[in-house]
Amino acid sequence: MSGTIIKVSGPLIVAEGMGDVHLYDVVRVSKQHLIGEVIELRGDKASIQVYEETAGLGPGEPVETTGAPLSVELAPGLIESIFDGIQRPLTEIYKIAGDRITRGIDVPKLDRKKKWEFVPVAKVGDEVIGGDVIGTVQETPAVLHKIMLPPRKSGTVEWIYSGEATITEPVYKIKDKEGNVTEYPMLQTWPVRVARPYKDKLAPDEPMVTGQRVIDTLFPIAKGGVAAVPGPFGSGKTVIQHQLAKWADADIIIYVGCGERGNEMTDVLNEFPALKDPRTGLPLMKRTVLIANTSDMPVAAREASIYTGITLAEYFRDMGYKVAIMADSTSRWAEALREMSSRLEEMPGEEGYPAYLASRLAEFYERAGVVDCIGKEKRVGAVSAIGAVSPPGGDISEPVSQATLRIVKVFWCLSASLAYARHFPAIDWLQSYSLYSDRLKTYFNSAVAPDWGELVGKTMGILQEEASLNEIVRLVGIDALGFKDRITMECARSIREDYLHQNSFDDVDTYTSLNKQYNMLKLIITWYDKALAALGQHVQLDKLIDMPIREHIGRAKYIPEKEEKEKFAALSKEMDKAFSDLTEEGEANA
Ligand code: ADP
Repeated sequence: MSGTIIKVSGPLIVAEGMGDVHLYDVVRVSKQHLIGEVIELRGDKASIQVYEETAGLGPGEPVETTGAPLSVELAPGLIESIFDGIQRPLTEIYKIAGDRITRGIDVPKLDRKKKWEFVPVAKVGDEVIGGDVIGTVQETPAVLHKIMLPPRKSGTVEWIYSGEATITEPVYKIKDKEGNVTEYPMLQTWPVRVARPYKDKLAPDEPMVTGQRVIDTLFPIAKGGVAAVPGPFGSGKTVIQHQLAKWADADIIIYVGCGERGNEMTDVLNEFPALKDPRTGLPLMKRTVLIANTSDMPVAAREASIYTGITLAEYFRDMGYKVAIMADSTSRWAEALREMSSRLEEMPGEEGYPAYLASRLAEFYERAGVVDCIGKEKRVGAVSAIGAVSPPGGDISEPVSQATLRIVKVFWCLSASLAYARHFPAIDWLQSYSLYSDRLKTYFNSAVAPDWGELVGKTMGILQEEASLNEIVRLVGIDALGFKDRITMECARSIREDYLHQNSFDDVDTYTSLNKQYNMLKLIITWYDKALAALGQHVQLDKLIDMPIREHIGRAKYIPEKEEKEKFAALSKEMDKAFSDLTEEGEANA
């Protein structure tokens, strides 16, 4: 079935004679076989977004449909790959074509020649349903790839292979109810715009621990949760993303990058592969998939990239893994949507974005979550999604930020002024929020310490009080504050400098376990409570502020986890002693 181009408008072409195609079918455009996708159908006219440069195309050229929607290939070979927005393997293409992708280039998405050691799990005679693990492949030292029967299939295992195979060679045969026998390779495909099925969506009630204190303590994200982080230039967005990729409690990392400038994506492509996985000491790429769109790639490929990314994430989720997907940035993605929409001559909404911007964003984030996976065996998998937004001028009142904030449950607000003051991570504690805090409190209170929730509540309270006291100080000076308020100000400073400030480049400080987070915070808040009590026992304010223990608490972040127990116990003892000395002295002077 083929049609003819009647109009070319940048990445959008219109073709007629397309009566038989379906919306979202992939087509091949012109003799160069450029890849495109049908995004609108009117009668026999199809509007097609083309994922490759359309310069030189003109009316009269042919358009052929492939009869299939835009899909990804799922099989061993995904991990460690760098793909573009429609899963073309950039490293392979680079080898063939150099640094500019040749148009119409035909390279399989996944390597067809590489042999993988297939280890059978199912046995001949087993009754299996979609999602059941048939075999495994040790894809990298960090990832055991589970070969699952594709969704909606079922039957009896007739034959199963053991040993080396490529992803397209048959490795098992299934006989269905009607008696038909089908051969299955390891490879399966899935349309990117359709969410992969699951049995049940579960409530996200466990944190995705990141080891970053400001996140875990104040604005935690749940496993299967959704978060947004705006990224003004120089605010530490890249460092945060690297920290999350390295330390977040996730098995698989999917990173989708839509670069602003060409070199920005090049940075990612250089930096990511250089990251070390703290768990294994191996390169982090051994459990990562990168999807990269540079700005010199056509805008339409960007639009597809987040769907490609989330579909890969769902596939690994189905294996029972915890997956973290990072999209940087969804603003660039929304701009692609805007450009396509204006070429389609749709009615523009706010700032030219299409009216469906919010629903498209929601469709992406809704595919995150904790699920009971399909298959007979009980498996729970999770996709946590973190989207960066890059509002022009850092002004989050614009439509993409606003639409995102209505969907996500966590907002880590990176602040340019904190970054300027070298307070890193520059997450503004007054602007940020996590709607998971309440739900996760139960977990923290039972897994870490029964008073975790109470400590965190107190900490936030002190930080908020500091903000309002700061107003008074600005107007009338610090001397206008009462002793109690001075103690609050001092404690807030300690929370900010000794606790929230965290140096990603220090070997110990880069990651803090939940237990250590608790111990650190407990010391700071205990000092606060004791200092307030001491004021009532005639201890002078200056003496409290100048207590040497405060400096020791400030250095607690550098205590290695191994020495944590004894060192924190010693600090706690030192504090008790210091306070009882001061109170004795105070009482004596009274
Ligand atoms: P962005 O990507 O937002 O432009 P970067 O992530 O590159 O900003 O951060 C800019 C600089 O800020 C880094 O080179 C680093 O020196 C510093 N920085 C950011 N985050 C941290 C951190 N957590 N610890 C220490 N330094 C940091």
